[in-house]
Order: sequence, then C-alpha cells, then structure tokens
Amino acid sequence: MTDTVDAVVVGAGVVGCAIARELARHGLSVTVVDRAADVGEGTSKANTAILHTGFDTAPGSLESRLVSQGYHLLVAYAEAAGIAVEPTGALLVAWDDEQEAALPGLLDKARANGYEAARFIDAAEVRRREPHLGPGARAGLEVPGESIIDPWSVTLALATEATRARAMLRLGTSVEGIAEGADEHLVTLSDGRVRARWVINAAGLFSDRIDRMLGHDGFTITPRRGQLIVFDKLARGLVSGIVLPVPTERSKGVLVLPTVWGNVLLGPTAEDLEDRGDTATTEGGIDQLLAAGRAILPPLLDEEVTALYAGIRAATEHRDYQISLHASQRYVCVGGIRSTGLTAALAIAEHVADLLRSTGLKLAVRDDLGPPLVMPALGEAQQRPYQRADLIEEDPEYGRVLCHCEQVTAGEVRDACRSEVPATDLAGVRRRTRAMNGRCNGFFCGAEVVALSAARTGRTAGQLTMVDR
Ligand SMILES: Cc1cc2nc3c(=O)[nH]c(=O)nc-3n(C[C@H](O)[C@H](O)[C@H](O)COP(=O)(O)OP(=O)(O)OC[C@H]3O[C@@H](n4cnc5c(N)ncnc54)[C@H](O)[C@@H]3O)c2cc1C
Repeated sequence: MTDTVDAVVVGAGVVGCAIARELARHGLSVTVVDRAADVGEGTSKANTAILHTGFDTAPGSLESRLVSQGYHLLVAYAEAAGIAVEPTGALLVAWDDEQEAALPGLLDKARANGYEAARFIDAAEVRRREPHLGPGARAGLEVPGESIIDPWSVTLALATEATRARAMLRLGTSVEGIAEGADEHLVTLSDGRVRARWVINAAGLFSDRIDRMLGHDGFTITPRRGQLIVFDKLARGLVSGIVLPVPTERSKGVLVLPTVWGNVLLGPTAEDLEDRGDTATTEGGIDQLLAAGRAILPPLLDEEVTALYAGIRAATEHRDYQISLHASQRYVCVGGIRSTGLTAALAIAEHVADLLRSTGLKLAVRDDLGPPLVMPALGEAQQRPYQRADLIEEDPEYGRVLCHCEQVTAGEVRDACRSEVPATDLAGVRRRTRAMNGRCNGFFCGAEVVALSAARTGRTAGQLTMVDR
C-alpha cells in the first residue's frame, strides 16, 4: 500500500482523465484507477466524435452549461495540443411537415442555450450545401460551430498531462470496495488498496455502482447502445459536414458525418439494453442504419464499409448529468455523462475542481508544469509524418510506411509503444496511430505492426492481439 493520496479518481475515460489532469495540475496527489488495460477503453473509445456546441441541450441544465463551456475549452485545447479538429459545421435537416414545424423551436432552444449562430435555411440552400442528400429535404437549420474531432487523442493527451503532473495511472485494476474513514477512504482494488482523502467517481457505465458503494442510490445507469457504420474514404466527398436529423425526446437520431480520418460515419442507433458491456453490432441495428442512410444520403450505400462498432451511453432515469458533491464524505460523483461527455470533459473537470474548492480545499495551479504537450498529428487535414521530409531525414523510420491504407509509419508505431501512456495492445496501437484502421483492416500490415509492437512492448503477439478492438 502506498501513502495516502489526496484523490483517487475511479475511471480513466475522457472524463476521469480530464479530472485527474485538472486536480494534479492544481497540486493534488492523484491516483487514477481503471479496470481496463488502457485509458479510454470504455465509452470514450466508441462515440461519434462530434465537438458539440450544445445548441440542442436542455436549456438551464448542468449539461447545457458544461457542454457549452467544454466546447470552447476543447477547441482551444485541441489547437494547442495539435489534436485534429475540423470545423465542418452541421446541417440539421427536416424531412416532413412535423419536422419542419419543429425547426423554430430548435432555433429558440439554441438561443436559450446561448448559441446565437444557428439560422434557418430553405430547401434549395440545403441542397446546394449537401447536393447528395436524398429527395424530400424541406428545410434546415445551419449550426456552423459543430465540429469533428479525434476523440482518442483527447483522452490520451489528458492522461499524458495528468501523469506529467505526477498523477499515477493504475490500469488493469478495478475498484471493488470503498471503506469510509474519518480522514481517509480505504479503496479496495482487485490487486491492492489505495488510501485517499477524496474519491472522485468517473466510472461511466458503472458510476451508479461506485455511488452505491458510498451509500447513495440517486440514479441507475440504463445502458443505451449506439451502433455505427464506418464507410471508406471514397465516401468522404459525399458530405461536406455533419448531417443531423430533427432530434426526438429520446435521442439525437441517425447522423451522417465525416471523420477527421477522412471516412464517413452513419449512426448511431439508440437501443436500451440490460447488459452494460454489450458492444456487439447486430444485423437489426445495421439494417436500421442502412435504411436511414438510404433515405438521407442514397449514394453512401454504394460505398464500401470499413468497420462496424458500437458504444454504450451511460443514460439514467434523469435528463441531466448526475454530478454531486458529498462534502462530509469527501466524495464527488460524476455519473450519467451520456452523449456529450467528450465535449464537456474539460468543463466537467473545472466544475469538479470548483466543487472541491467550495469545501475549503486549496487548489492552486502548479508552477512546474513544463512545456505544453503536442500530440502526434493523425488527422487527414494535418501534415502527417510520412509527408514531412524534415522528420524523415532525422529519422528514416518516419518514412517507412507500414499501414498503407492509413499511411502510418514504423516510427509512429514505435512511438506509440514507448510514449508516456504507452499502447499495451493492438487496439491501443490503432488508437494512437490509425494503423490497421483502414479498408484492409490490417490484412496487409497486421503482421508487421504486431511484430514491431511486440518488440517495443515486450509482449508476445498473442498477448497483443487477445484484446484487440
Ligand atoms: C454512440 C455514442 C456516440 C457519442 N457521441 C458523442 C459525441 O459525438 N460527442 C460527445 O461529446 N460525446 C459523445 N458521446 C458520449 C461520450 O462518448 C461519453 O459521454 C464519454 O466518453 C464518457 O466518458 P467517461 O469517462 O464518463 O466514461 P468511460 O469512457 O466509459 O470511462 C469510464 C471508465 O471507468 C472504468 N470503470 C468502471 N467501473 C470501474 C471500477 N469498478 N473499477 C475501475 N474502473 C472502472 C471503465 O473501465 C471505464 O474506462 C457518445 C457516446 C456514444 C455511446
């Protein structure tokens, strides 16, 4: 057992990593615990990767405030850290009378959320902007601020900065119990124990279970799965930005949108499940998406599919985030961060720091944080290592392309395995480099990527591939 830390953060998703970074950079000693072997292995690895303006959140809610603040924070953070963002904008399209009649209400909602840039556009303008849409678009709402982002690098960057500020990452170990003490909590892990003055619960789909360990039962996670289809890069020319449907009470609906890797996504579904771990894609779900895609963007269905995946939203019976301070227990619950947590993560972290300050805890930014972090350039619109003669001259491994679909070099795979928060399996290499994410799914480069990763991580090929995807 180590010395008592100021805070243990349960969960190394985008939210937990953002909180750990914020607290560690403000002088607290922090341990982050996650049962997965890598950061961002939960919902944070499988979303739609939109940087939301918050135009359609419930006005006056905590989510509305944190998404809107988080949007500005993440735009600035991504720019400083070199994380790929494309300000594509979004077009919310009405396809029938009822949806058209909902547009004024959505515009009012955007304004009530402090978002003033949305505006109506007529059917002709909708078609001019997105000429490949299916027939029947009646009108639309332009939301110019909506953007697409590299979601994996965000979590990695936050985790890296947390560790640079001396937070300790304990991966591959789960929190199994929490015993409250007068001055500190004793947190039982699957492989040991941690003593912590504060517990911060950022356990995503399991945040209600951690909440119950501390005697609360204010919310229950009702997992909502979203399946998505990734189309190959030849589809990219079919859309200029994010195409949104008119949302329903339950979900934002099925979207078509580009990714920063140059693909096109179709999805997600919204399916209520019992099993919090059921990230399977299903025939029914994919059929539903294809039917929606056929109506929204018919030529998309002629394009090749690169991958299918599913993520699970941490929905609850409540409409808002479940963030609460239990000062006398020295506990902060950050639960129910459903479909906007990537965008809101940095604002959630600032909010948690403010909650701690409100109890009298001193948080002052450290003066030894070192130079700003710069992440590897992975976006299609960025200059990648294989395009940089200066890098290749310095280190020829950046000129040796391993993955030809995604143009990933041996130098990048090597770096991913020896970075400050290193990849420990192939899924981690994929998220850090894009290797094997292309149309051949690693058929061409897989063996070489595995060999290089095994050499760099000291793991066997079997260990690397066992938990892939
Ligand atoms: C289909 C879909 C589309 C989405 N699209 C967007 C989008 O476009 N834009 C956006 O901003 N957001 C989007 N989201 C939401 C966003 O992905 C989530 O809000 C965010 O990833 C939540 O992060 P988190 O850190 O709270 O949870 P997670 O990433 O799930 O992290 C929680 C972590 O806690 C760990 N954990 C749980 N229990 C324990 C335990 N007992 N011990 C140790 N560790 C534990 C888990 O292993 C996990 O890694 C989408 C979500 C889905 C599913």
